[in-house]
Amino acid sequence: MSVPEILKRARDGRRLTPDEALALYREGEFIHMGAAAHAVRCAQNDPRTVTYLVDRNINYSNVCITDCLFCAFFRPPGDAEAYVLSREEFARKLEELRAIGGTRILLQGGHHPGLKLEWYEDLLRWLRAEYPDIEVNAFSPSEVTHIAEVEKMPLEDVIRRLAAAGLAGIPGGGAEILDDAVREEISPKKLRTAGWLEAMRLAHKHGLATTASMVIGFGEPYEARVNHLLRIRELQDESVAKHGQGFTAFISWTAQLDTVPMSGLARRKGIRPAGAQEYLRNVAIARLFLDNFRHHGASWPTQGVAIAQTALNAGCDDYGSTMMEENVVSQAGASTMSSILVDEMVLQIREAGFVPAQRDTRYRILKRNEEVAV
Ligand code: SF4
Repeated sequence: MSVPEILKRARDGRRLTPDEALALYREGEFIHMGAAAHAVRCAQNDPRTVTYLVDRNINYSNVCITDCLFCAFFRPPGDAEAYVLSREEFARKLEELRAIGGTRILLQGGHHPGLKLEWYEDLLRWLRAEYPDIEVNAFSPSEVTHIAEVEKMPLEDVIRRLAAAGLAGIPGGGAEILDDAVREEISPKKLRTAGWLEAMRLAHKHGLATTASMVIGFGEPYEARVNHLLRIRELQDESVAKHGQGFTAFISWTAQLDTVPMSGLARRKGIRPAGAQEYLRNVAIARLFLDNFRHHGASWPTQGVAIAQTALNAGCDDYGSTMMEENVVSQAGASTMSSILVDEMVLQIREAGFVPAQRDTRYRILKRNEEVAV
């Protein structure tokens, strides 16, 4: 089937096959795929509105024993720069978030070998008691799996206890590319595809909000990207059928390989970083293939504002979040920004031609910034 025929099928609301997605990766031009993806996005969401979230990223610890080759954030246990945040540091960050009207924190860290499940439960209970107005999304499939391994406990028990302590959602970090041949190369000690999917399957079962993420640009073949999209589409079907809920959104970004352990290997293998064109093509293909994901987020930290604004016209209906601090992709060499002020985010959405609307984690609109789009 030709690319124009595949794009027409997608615009008509027909589900694309993996072979059709592969054809788009190989032959599709962004200008055509972006237009089709925008049409699909407009059919699934209010065409005028682009949502955003006022939140803060907090990296509670950088201690990790998993040594992913693309990661410049982690420090081994005992390293001079290793840290675990104190309650005082959490409190300062939460107060700063409150001051800008934030509604959520996103806690992420490494795989700390010494932190027990009780430490995470105590933190969640303290956060819920001190900051009941701020929702806590935290950890990732690989972090909760690591906690289960430390405790030698079934993963479902860990997720159940974290949810009971106040966890509202598990973000989709650590997915990178859900294809085990790629994972073996870039993160040999990290959980495999089935493990990531199983953690999210359990999160859906226990009513937690989740997102699905994808990181491109490790030199992965297009087939691996299609595998990734297919696996999260299948899990979304399964979770919605069983539990009436699945992932809230899909977000992709590009790997930053400048200052990470695999940068020399990447240069030797001639791996070119995924640039703006490749990012935008992936955004469009994801919208066309993931017909069961209503919300797709743009990513400004790795590609910058102009490309994120372009993504809003190529399949994305959400501009992401303020973040306030970002320590993972920035330490890997992302040259753009680590936070956006709320006013700036609203302005950028307007500049792209949309009405901004503040949302919560589950994409419920909290406030519309109704002024006419510029
Ligand atoms: S990406 Fe996460 S799991 Fe991998 S080394 Fe970095 S902190 Fe550890």
